[in-house]
Amino acid sequence: MTNTDALRREIAAANRILAHHGVVDAYGHISHRHPTDPKRFLLSGSKSPELVEPEDIMEFGLDGEIADGSKMKPYLERYIHAGIYEANPEIMSVVHSHALEVLPFSISTVPLVPVIHTASHCGAHIPVWDIADKFGDTGLLVTTREQGRDLAAKLAKNRIALMRGHGFAAAGRTIGEVLKVSIYLPQNARVVMDAMRLGGGIKALSAREIEIRDEAGPGGRELDRAMEYWAAKAGCSHLLPPRK
Ligand SMILES: [Zn+2]
Repeated sequence: MTNTDALRREIAAANRILAHHGVVDAYGHISHRHPTDPKRFLLSGSKSPELVEPEDIMEFGLDGEIADGSKMKPYLERYIHAGIYEANPEIMSVVHSHALEVLPFSISTVPLVPVIHTASHCGAHIPVWDIADKFGDTGLLVTTREQGRDLAAKLAKNRIALMRGHGFAAAGRTIGEVLKVSIYLPQNARVVMDAMRLGGGIKALSAREIEIRDEAGPGGRELDRAMEYWAAKAGCSHLLPPRK
């Protein structure tokens, strides 16, 4: 099995893990930069994430267009991924989600901040991108290269950008990191909403607290343990290599 074959299996598993957590439903997707060609990325053809198989994974160029001659129908919003990979060479994996829990923070002036330790990797600042700022009235979907680039510019070096009235885009240095951020961001949003109902102020994680948790890096044994658990719960352990 080549590196790319193993990665296709891992991406298929990551799709199912996100679906299992309700981060994606019929819509939403996760991609990974190509293991040997940084100017390409791997993303499923247009399928609901829970149903994605390794053979559904297609290759795209950083212009968002099909690069492997595949005849499968691509996702309309593949430009989210293209824009982020093009803008930031450090990013190896990208998620797009319509998670309901984060949407209130995308349409109000209340910022979404990390308040629980498991969401520390979301970073101190979570910008909100409004497609209307530059593109006026649209269907809100990111369907052009220019829109993907504009979203990536708002994301900048942050891990997450909320998308007004739409969802979020998450960027990670590993597939495990982007999964962790995408799974715990909606949980963090729920905790913030519950705390606001209590009527007092919100205490966010401090910049140093976030730094201390980030010093462990995006990988590590803790994340291996999480991947193993998430895959078992999502019924897709068979897609991942055995844990060493
Ligand atoms: Zn979308």
